[in-house]
Amino acid sequence: MSTVQRDIVIIGCGIFGAAIAWALGRRGMGHRVLIVDRQPAGSGATSRAAGLVTQVRTDPALQALAGETLAAIASLKSHFDEDVGCHAVGALHIGTLAQRPALEAMLAVCTAAGIQGQWQDKRQVLNQAPWLDAGAFDLATFFPDECYVDPYLLSSAYLRRAQQMGAVLRLGTGVAQITHDAGVVTGVALNDGTVLPARTVVNAAGAWSNLLSAPLGLPLPMAPVRSQYWITERASEFSPTGPIVFMTDIRAYARPEVGALLFGARESAPAVADPRELPEELQGYVFDAADPHGWANLAQAFDSLARYFPGIERTGIAHYITGPSNYTPDGQPIVGAFAAISGLLVASGCNGSGITYSAGVGRLIAELIGGETPFVNASRMDPARALHIDPFDPAFLQACAHARATKSTG
Ligand SMILES: Cc1cc2nc3c(=O)[nH]c(=O)nc-3n(C[C@H](O)[C@H](O)[C@H](O)COP(=O)(O)OP(=O)(O)OC[C@H]3O[C@@H](n4cnc5c(N)ncnc54)[C@H](O)[C@@H]3O)c2cc1C
Repeated sequence: MSTVQRDIVIIGCGIFGAAIAWALGRRGMGHRVLIVDRQPAGSGATSRAAGLVTQVRTDPALQALAGETLAAIASLKSHFDEDVGCHAVGALHIGTLAQRPALEAMLAVCTAAGIQGQWQDKRQVLNQAPWLDAGAFDLATFFPDECYVDPYLLSSAYLRRAQQMGAVLRLGTGVAQITHDAGVVTGVALNDGTVLPARTVVNAAGAWSNLLSAPLGLPLPMAPVRSQYWITERASEFSPTGPIVFMTDIRAYARPEVGALLFGARESAPAVADPRELPEELQGYVFDAADPHGWANLAQAFDSLARYFPGIERTGIAHYITGPSNYTPDGQPIVGAFAAISGLLVASGCNGSGITYSAGVGRLIAELIGGETPFVNASRMDPARALHIDPFDPAFLQACAHARATKSTG
Protein backbone atom coordinates (compact mmCIF):
# COMPACT_ATOMS: atom_id res chain seq x y z
CA MET A 1 0.00 0.00 0.00
CA SER A 2 1.56 3.39 -0.91
CA THR A 3 1.55 6.27 1.54
CA VAL A 4 -1.30 8.13 -0.17
CA GLN A 5 -3.62 5.14 0.21
CA ARG A 6 -3.22 4.97 3.96
CA ASP A 7 -6.55 5.72 5.54
CA ILE A 8 -5.44 6.66 9.07
CA VAL A 9 -3.44 9.88 9.23
CA ILE A 10 -1.85 10.95 12.53
CA ILE A 11 -0.81 14.61 12.62
CA GLY A 12 2.26 15.02 14.81
CA CYS A 13 5.02 12.59 15.74
CA GLY A 14 5.56 13.60 19.35
CA ILE A 15 5.10 10.98 22.03
CA PHE A 16 1.31 10.93 21.57
CA GLY A 17 1.45 10.40 17.79
CA ALA A 18 4.12 7.70 18.15
CA ALA A 19 2.26 5.88 20.96
CA ILE A 20 -0.99 5.94 18.96
CA ALA A 21 0.78 4.52 15.90
CA TRP A 22 2.25 1.69 17.99
CA ALA A 23 -1.09 0.90 19.61
CA LEU A 24 -2.72 0.77 16.15
CA GLY A 25 0.07 -1.54 14.97
CA ARG A 26 -0.51 -3.88 17.91
CA ARG A 27 -4.13 -4.15 16.78
CA GLY A 28 -3.17 -5.10 13.25
CA MET A 29 -3.81 -1.64 11.74
CA GLY A 30 -0.18 -0.57 11.26
CA HIS A 31 -0.25 -0.90 7.46
CA ARG A 32 -3.05 1.71 7.38
CA VAL A 33 -1.13 4.37 9.37
CA LEU A 34 0.64 7.45 8.04
CA ILE A 35 2.20 9.85 10.58
CA VAL A 36 2.88 13.36 9.30
CA ASP A 37 5.19 15.84 11.02
CA ARG A 38 6.80 19.00 9.72
CA GLN A 39 9.68 18.71 12.23
CA PRO A 40 11.93 15.79 13.22
CA ALA A 41 10.07 13.12 15.22
CA GLY A 42 10.01 13.80 18.96
CA SER A 43 11.50 17.27 18.64
CA GLY A 44 8.56 19.21 20.12
CA ALA A 45 7.57 19.24 23.79
CA THR A 46 8.49 15.55 24.06
CA SER A 47 12.25 15.98 23.95
CA ARG A 48 12.07 18.71 26.61
CA ALA A 49 10.22 16.72 29.28
CA ALA A 50 11.67 15.78 32.65
CA GLY A 51 10.55 12.23 31.91
CA LEU A 52 8.65 11.47 35.14
CA VAL A 53 6.19 8.60 34.77
CA THR A 54 3.94 8.77 37.81
CA GLN A 55 0.92 6.62 38.47
CA VAL A 56 0.26 8.04 41.94
CA ARG A 57 -2.83 10.14 41.22
CA THR A 58 -6.31 10.36 42.64
CA ASP A 59 -8.22 10.13 39.32
CA PRO A 60 -8.71 6.44 38.38
CA ALA A 61 -8.78 7.11 34.62
CA LEU A 62 -5.50 9.05 34.77
CA GLN A 63 -4.02 6.32 36.97
CA ALA A 64 -5.00 3.81 34.29
CA LEU A 65 -3.39 5.84 31.48
CA ALA A 66 -0.17 6.00 33.50
CA GLY A 67 -0.35 2.29 34.37
CA GLU A 68 -0.51 1.50 30.68
CA THR A 69 2.71 3.46 30.13
CA LEU A 70 4.51 1.63 32.94
CA ALA A 71 3.40 -1.66 31.36
CA ALA A 72 4.55 -0.46 27.92
CA ILE A 73 7.99 0.48 29.26
CA ALA A 74 8.33 -3.01 30.76
CA SER A 75 7.12 -4.66 27.56
CA LEU A 76 9.45 -2.60 25.34
CA LYS A 77 12.36 -3.81 27.47
CA SER A 78 11.38 -7.45 27.87
CA HIS A 79 10.01 -8.16 24.38
CA PHE A 80 12.07 -5.82 22.20
CA ASP A 81 15.13 -5.00 24.34
CA GLU A 82 14.33 -1.27 23.94
CA ASP A 83 16.29 0.82 26.44
CA VAL A 84 14.23 3.93 27.17
CA GLY A 85 16.52 5.15 29.95
CA CYS A 86 14.14 3.92 32.62
CA HIS A 87 15.18 4.53 36.23
CA ALA A 88 12.81 2.64 38.47
CA VAL A 89 13.82 4.59 41.57
CA GLY A 90 10.37 5.10 43.13
CA ALA A 91 8.93 8.35 44.41
CA LEU A 92 8.77 9.92 47.85
CA HIS A 93 5.92 12.31 48.67
CA ILE A 94 7.02 14.36 51.64
CA GLY A 95 5.23 17.03 53.61
CA THR A 96 4.65 18.68 56.95
CA LEU A 97 2.00 17.62 59.47
CA ALA A 98 -0.47 19.84 57.61
CA GLN A 99 -0.18 17.50 54.61
CA ARG A 100 -1.02 14.37 56.60
CA PRO A 101 -4.65 14.17 55.39
CA ALA A 102 -3.61 14.61 51.74
CA LEU A 103 -0.77 12.07 52.02
CA GLU A 104 -3.06 9.62 53.82
CA ALA A 105 -5.78 10.03 51.20
CA MET A 106 -3.34 9.52 48.30
CA LEU A 107 -1.91 6.41 49.94
CA ALA A 108 -5.39 5.00 50.53
CA VAL A 109 -6.57 5.67 46.95
CA CYS A 110 -3.42 4.16 45.47
CA THR A 111 -3.41 1.11 47.74
CA ALA A 112 -7.05 0.47 46.82
CA ALA A 113 -6.06 0.63 43.16
CA GLY A 114 -3.29 -1.93 43.68
CA ILE A 115 -0.44 0.60 43.46
CA GLN A 116 2.26 -0.27 45.99
CA GLY A 117 3.01 2.40 48.58
CA GLN A 118 3.86 2.81 52.24
CA TRP A 119 4.79 5.32 54.93
CA GLN A 120 8.52 5.85 55.07
CA ASP A 121 10.36 6.92 58.21
CA LYS A 122 12.55 9.99 58.18
CA ARG A 123 15.81 8.10 58.61
CA GLN A 124 15.11 6.03 55.49
CA VAL A 125 14.10 9.14 53.57
CA LEU A 126 17.37 10.87 54.43
CA ASN A 127 19.32 7.76 53.38
CA GLN A 128 17.53 7.80 50.05
CA ALA A 129 17.83 11.56 49.48
CA PRO A 130 20.67 12.97 51.61
CA TRP A 131 20.28 16.40 49.99
CA LEU A 132 17.00 16.91 51.94
CA ASP A 133 16.99 18.88 55.17
CA ALA A 134 15.63 16.79 58.04
CA GLY A 135 13.84 19.75 59.58
CA ALA A 136 11.83 20.63 56.49
CA PHE A 137 9.35 17.77 56.58
CA ASP A 138 7.56 15.54 59.07
CA LEU A 139 6.03 12.78 56.96
CA ALA A 140 6.78 10.76 53.87
CA THR A 141 5.13 8.12 51.73
CA PHE A 142 7.09 6.02 49.25
CA PHE A 143 5.80 4.49 46.01
CA PRO A 144 8.45 2.09 44.68
CA ASP A 145 7.06 1.63 41.14
CA GLU A 146 7.32 5.25 40.02
CA CYS A 147 10.09 5.96 37.53
CA TYR A 148 11.60 8.40 35.13
CA VAL A 149 12.64 7.74 31.55
CA ASP A 150 14.37 9.49 28.69
CA PRO A 151 11.25 10.85 26.93
CA TYR A 152 12.92 11.05 23.53
CA LEU A 153 14.02 7.41 23.78
CA LEU A 154 10.54 6.29 24.85
CA SER A 155 8.93 8.18 21.98
CA SER A 156 11.50 6.78 19.54
CA ALA A 157 10.88 3.24 20.81
CA TYR A 158 7.11 3.59 20.24
CA LEU A 159 7.81 4.91 16.76
CA ARG A 160 10.29 2.15 15.90
CA ARG A 161 7.79 -0.52 16.96
CA ALA A 162 5.03 1.21 14.99
CA GLN A 163 7.20 1.36 11.87
CA GLN A 164 8.07 -2.29 12.27
CA MET A 165 4.35 -3.02 12.26
CA GLY A 166 3.82 -1.11 9.03
CA ALA A 167 3.32 2.56 9.99
CA VAL A 168 4.96 5.10 7.68
CA LEU A 169 6.40 8.44 8.81
CA ARG A 170 6.39 11.43 6.50
CA LEU A 171 8.48 14.37 7.70
CA GLY A 172 9.15 17.86 6.42
CA THR A 173 5.75 19.16 5.37
CA GLY A 174 3.11 20.37 7.78
CA VAL A 175 -0.62 19.86 7.71
CA ALA A 176 -2.34 23.08 6.66
CA GLN A 177 -5.87 21.87 7.36
CA ILE A 178 -8.05 18.91 8.16
CA THR A 179 -10.63 18.39 5.41
CA HIS A 180 -14.20 17.13 5.82
CA ASP A 181 -17.43 16.90 3.95
CA ALA A 182 -20.99 16.55 5.23
CA GLY A 183 -19.82 15.81 8.77
CA VAL A 184 -17.28 13.19 7.71
CA VAL A 185 -13.51 13.64 7.73
CA THR A 186 -11.96 13.29 4.26
CA GLY A 187 -8.24 13.74 4.96
CA VAL A 188 -5.63 16.45 5.35
CA ALA A 189 -4.19 19.11 3.07
CA LEU A 190 -0.45 19.70 3.41
CA ASN A 191 1.30 23.05 3.20
CA ASP A 192 2.84 22.10 -0.16
CA GLY A 193 -0.63 21.58 -1.65
CA THR A 194 -0.64 17.77 -1.41
CA VAL A 195 -3.98 16.31 -0.36
CA LEU A 196 -3.87 13.09 1.64
CA PRO A 197 -7.28 11.38 1.68
CA ALA A 198 -8.10 9.51 4.88
CA ARG A 199 -11.07 7.99 6.66
CA THR A 200 -9.58 8.69 10.08
CA VAL A 201 -7.50 11.70 11.15
CA VAL A 202 -5.92 11.97 14.60
CA ASN A 203 -4.89 15.46 15.66
CA ALA A 204 -1.82 14.89 17.86
CA ALA A 205 -0.16 18.19 16.98
CA GLY A 206 0.75 19.09 20.58
CA ALA A 207 0.78 22.79 21.40
CA TRP A 208 -0.31 23.51 17.82
CA SER A 209 -3.42 21.27 17.87
CA ASN A 210 -5.82 24.19 18.20
CA LEU A 211 -4.51 25.78 15.00
CA LEU A 212 -6.04 22.82 13.16
CA SER A 213 -9.08 22.23 15.37
CA ALA A 214 -10.38 25.74 16.09
CA PRO A 215 -10.88 26.61 12.37
CA LEU A 216 -13.24 23.62 12.16
CA GLY A 217 -15.42 25.20 14.86
CA LEU A 218 -14.03 22.64 17.32
CA PRO A 219 -11.90 24.62 19.79
CA LEU A 220 -9.88 22.53 22.24
CA PRO A 221 -10.06 23.77 25.84
CA MET A 222 -6.31 24.11 26.37
CA ALA A 223 -3.38 26.50 25.99
CA PRO A 224 0.42 26.13 25.87
CA VAL A 225 1.74 27.08 29.31
CA ARG A 226 5.43 27.35 30.08
CA SER A 227 6.83 24.27 31.81
CA GLN A 228 10.36 24.49 33.09
CA TYR A 229 12.99 22.87 35.25
CA TRP A 230 16.55 23.43 36.28
CA ILE A 231 19.49 21.04 36.62
CA THR A 232 22.20 21.74 39.18
CA GLU A 233 25.88 21.13 38.87
CA ARG A 234 27.01 17.68 39.97
CA ALA A 235 27.60 17.11 43.68
CA SER A 236 28.31 14.04 45.81
CA GLU A 237 25.06 14.39 47.81
CA PHE A 238 22.99 13.51 44.70
CA SER A 239 22.88 9.74 44.40
CA PRO A 240 22.21 8.64 40.80
CA THR A 241 19.90 5.97 42.21
CA GLY A 242 17.99 8.30 44.55
CA PRO A 243 14.21 8.56 44.30
CA ILE A 244 11.99 11.18 42.73
CA VAL A 245 10.94 13.52 45.55
CA PHE A 246 7.69 15.47 45.59
CA MET A 247 7.73 18.28 48.16
CA THR A 248 3.98 18.51 48.45
CA ASP A 249 3.53 21.71 50.46
CA ILE A 250 5.67 23.81 48.11
CA ARG A 251 4.53 21.92 44.98
CA ALA A 252 8.10 21.23 43.86
CA TYR A 253 9.78 18.03 42.70
CA ALA A 254 13.30 16.78 42.18
CA ARG A 255 15.00 13.73 40.73
CA PRO A 256 18.58 12.62 40.13
CA GLU A 257 20.18 13.53 36.81
CA VAL A 258 23.59 11.95 36.17
CA GLY A 259 25.15 13.06 39.45
CA ALA A 260 23.19 16.31 39.62
CA LEU A 261 19.68 17.23 40.76
CA LEU A 262 16.91 18.11 38.33
CA PHE A 263 14.14 20.10 39.97
CA GLY A 264 10.97 21.98 39.12
CA ALA A 265 8.98 24.42 41.22
CA ARG A 266 5.49 25.54 40.33
CA GLU A 267 5.17 29.28 39.96
CA SER A 268 2.19 31.41 41.00
CA ALA A 269 1.63 32.99 37.57
CA PRO A 270 3.08 30.78 34.81
CA ALA A 271 3.75 32.32 31.41
CA VAL A 272 1.26 31.26 28.74
CA ALA A 273 1.44 31.64 24.95
CA ASP A 274 -1.13 32.35 22.31
CA PRO A 275 -0.68 29.17 20.20
CA ARG A 276 -0.79 31.31 17.04
CA GLU A 277 2.49 32.88 18.17
CA LEU A 278 4.37 29.64 18.83
CA PRO A 279 7.05 28.97 16.18
CA GLU A 280 7.09 25.61 14.39
CA GLU A 281 10.57 24.98 15.80
CA LEU A 282 10.80 25.52 19.57
CA GLN A 283 14.58 25.87 19.78
CA GLY A 284 15.29 29.30 21.24
CA TYR A 285 11.62 30.14 21.79
CA VAL A 286 11.10 32.44 24.76
CA PHE A 287 7.74 32.52 26.56
CA ASP A 288 8.44 35.66 28.51
CA ALA A 289 10.94 38.16 27.13
CA ALA A 290 11.23 39.75 30.58
CA ASP A 291 12.27 36.41 32.13
CA PRO A 292 13.68 34.21 29.33
CA HIS A 293 15.43 31.74 31.66
CA GLY A 294 12.86 31.56 34.42
CA TRP A 295 15.16 33.28 36.96
CA ALA A 296 12.27 35.34 38.32
CA ASN A 297 10.29 32.15 38.90
CA LEU A 298 13.27 30.50 40.54
CA ALA A 299 13.81 33.55 42.76
CA GLN A 300 10.16 33.38 43.80
CA ALA A 301 10.50 29.70 44.80
CA PHE A 302 14.04 29.99 46.18
CA ASP A 303 13.32 30.39 49.90
CA SER A 304 10.89 27.50 50.06
CA LEU A 305 13.21 25.30 47.98
CA ALA A 306 16.17 26.19 50.22
CA ARG A 307 14.16 25.00 53.23
CA TYR A 308 14.09 21.47 51.78
CA PHE A 309 17.33 21.63 49.85
CA PRO A 310 19.80 23.91 51.67
CA GLY A 311 22.51 22.92 49.17
CA ILE A 312 20.82 25.08 46.56
CA GLU A 313 22.56 28.03 48.22
CA ARG A 314 26.00 26.69 47.22
CA THR A 315 25.24 24.53 44.17
CA GLY A 316 25.28 26.21 40.79
CA ILE A 317 22.60 25.81 38.15
CA ALA A 318 24.04 24.11 35.06
CA HIS A 319 21.00 23.87 32.79
CA TYR A 320 17.55 25.34 32.28
CA ILE A 321 14.98 23.51 30.13
CA THR A 322 11.65 24.95 29.08
CA GLY A 323 8.84 24.20 26.65
CA PRO A 324 5.07 24.21 26.24
CA SER A 325 2.66 21.90 28.05
CA ASN A 326 -1.01 22.07 27.14
CA TYR A 327 -2.98 22.85 30.28
CA THR A 328 -6.76 22.59 30.48
CA PRO A 329 -8.83 24.49 33.07
CA ASP A 330 -10.31 21.22 34.38
CA GLY A 331 -6.97 19.37 34.52
CA GLN A 332 -8.20 16.59 32.22
CA PRO A 333 -6.44 15.63 29.00
CA ILE A 334 -8.25 15.95 25.68
CA VAL A 335 -8.54 12.48 24.18
CA GLY A 336 -11.32 11.11 22.04
CA ALA A 337 -13.47 11.45 18.95
CA PHE A 338 -15.55 14.40 17.80
CA ALA A 339 -19.19 13.56 17.14
CA ALA A 340 -19.53 16.62 14.87
CA ILE A 341 -17.01 15.29 12.33
CA SER A 342 -17.00 11.54 12.12
CA GLY A 343 -13.52 10.05 11.78
CA LEU A 344 -11.79 12.98 13.55
CA LEU A 345 -10.03 12.27 16.84
CA VAL A 346 -7.71 14.28 19.04
CA ALA A 347 -5.00 13.44 21.57
CA SER A 348 -3.72 16.49 23.40
CA GLY A 349 -4.16 18.57 26.56
CA CYS A 350 -1.40 16.75 28.42
CA ASN A 351 -1.37 18.98 31.55
CA GLY A 352 2.36 18.40 31.90
CA SER A 353 1.92 14.61 31.99
CA GLY A 354 2.05 13.50 28.37
CA ILE A 355 5.01 11.16 28.88
CA THR A 356 3.17 9.55 31.78
CA TYR A 357 -0.09 9.18 29.83
CA SER A 358 1.49 8.28 26.48
CA ALA A 359 0.83 4.54 26.10
CA GLY A 360 -2.58 4.90 27.74
CA VAL A 361 -3.54 7.63 25.28
CA GLY A 362 -2.22 5.46 22.44
CA ARG A 363 -4.31 2.51 23.56
CA LEU A 364 -7.44 4.60 24.08
CA ILE A 365 -7.28 6.22 20.63
CA ALA A 366 -6.54 2.86 18.95
CA GLU A 367 -9.50 1.26 20.75
CA LEU A 368 -11.80 4.07 19.60
CA ILE A 369 -10.58 3.70 16.00
CA GLY A 370 -10.93 -0.08 16.15
CA GLY A 371 -14.45 0.11 17.60
CA GLU A 372 -13.42 -1.60 20.86
CA THR A 373 -14.76 -0.76 24.30
CA PRO A 374 -12.28 1.73 25.80
CA PHE A 375 -10.23 0.39 28.72
CA VAL A 376 -10.89 3.56 30.73
CA ASN A 377 -13.89 5.78 31.25
CA ALA A 378 -12.75 8.71 29.12
CA SER A 379 -15.92 10.80 29.39
CA ARG A 380 -14.13 13.61 31.24
CA MET A 381 -11.52 13.77 28.44
CA ASP A 382 -14.20 14.52 25.80
CA PRO A 383 -12.68 16.90 23.20
CA ALA A 384 -16.05 18.59 22.73
CA ARG A 385 -16.57 19.41 26.41
CA ALA A 386 -16.14 23.18 25.99
CA LEU A 387 -17.06 24.14 22.44
CA HIS A 388 -18.15 27.61 23.60
CA ILE A 389 -14.63 28.77 24.51
CA ASP A 390 -12.33 30.96 22.43
CA PRO A 391 -8.94 29.22 22.83
CA PHE A 392 -7.10 32.43 21.88
CA ASP A 393 -8.91 34.73 24.31
CA PRO A 394 -6.41 36.17 26.85
CA ALA A 395 -8.77 35.42 29.75
CA PHE A 396 -9.00 31.77 28.64
CA LEU A 397 -5.20 31.58 28.31
CA GLN A 398 -4.91 32.83 31.89
CA ALA A 399 -7.38 30.18 33.08
CA CYS A 400 -5.06 27.54 31.60
CA ALA A 401 -2.01 29.13 33.25
CA HIS A 402 -3.91 29.08 36.54
CA ALA A 403 -4.47 25.33 36.10
CA ARG A 404 -0.70 24.83 36.09
CA ALA A 405 -0.19 27.19 39.02
CA THR A 406 -2.59 25.18 41.17
CA LYS A 407 -1.75 21.67 39.93
CA SER A 408 -0.82 19.29 42.74
CA THR A 409 2.47 17.43 42.53
CA GLY A 410 0.87 14.02 42.49
C1 LIG B 1 9.79 21.38 30.48
C2 LIG B 1 8.80 20.27 30.39
C3 LIG B 1 8.83 19.23 31.32
C4 LIG B 1 7.91 18.17 31.22
N1 LIG B 1 8.03 17.13 32.09
C5 LIG B 1 7.18 16.07 31.99
C6 LIG B 1 7.32 14.94 32.83
O1 LIG B 1 8.23 14.86 33.67
N2 LIG B 1 6.44 13.93 32.69
C7 LIG B 1 5.43 13.95 31.79
O2 LIG B 1 4.63 13.02 31.75
N3 LIG B 1 5.29 15.00 30.93
C8 LIG B 1 6.14 16.06 31.02
N4 LIG B 1 6.01 17.11 30.18
C9 LIG B 1 4.91 17.12 29.21
C10 LIG B 1 5.27 16.35 27.97
O3 LIG B 1 6.48 16.80 27.42
C11 LIG B 1 4.15 16.52 26.94
O4 LIG B 1 2.93 16.21 27.55
C12 LIG B 1 4.31 15.61 25.73
O5 LIG B 1 5.59 15.69 25.20
C13 LIG B 1 3.25 15.98 24.68
O6 LIG B 1 3.49 15.21 23.54
P1 LIG B 1 2.75 15.57 22.20
O7 LIG B 1 3.02 14.43 21.28
O8 LIG B 1 1.35 15.94 22.49
O9 LIG B 1 3.43 16.94 21.71
P2 LIG B 1 4.81 17.24 20.95
O10 LIG B 1 5.92 16.41 21.46
O11 LIG B 1 5.00 18.71 20.98
O12 LIG B 1 4.53 16.76 19.47
C14 LIG B 1 3.65 17.44 18.60
C15 LIG B 1 4.21 17.28 17.20
O13 LIG B 1 3.26 17.80 16.27
C16 LIG B 1 3.95 18.40 15.21
N5 LIG B 1 3.05 19.33 14.54
C17 LIG B 1 2.41 20.39 15.06
N6 LIG B 1 1.63 20.99 14.15
C18 LIG B 1 1.78 20.29 13.00
C19 LIG B 1 1.23 20.42 11.71
N7 LIG B 1 0.36 21.39 11.40
N8 LIG B 1 1.62 19.53 10.76
C20 LIG B 1 2.51 18.53 11.05
N9 LIG B 1 3.04 18.37 12.27
C21 LIG B 1 2.69 19.23 13.24
C22 LIG B 1 5.11 19.09 15.90
O14 LIG B 1 6.18 19.35 14.99
C23 LIG B 1 5.49 18.08 16.98
O15 LIG B 1 6.51 17.19 16.56
C24 LIG B 1 6.92 18.18 30.22
C25 LIG B 1 6.89 19.22 29.30
C26 LIG B 1 7.82 20.25 29.36
C27 LIG B 1 7.78 21.33 28.33
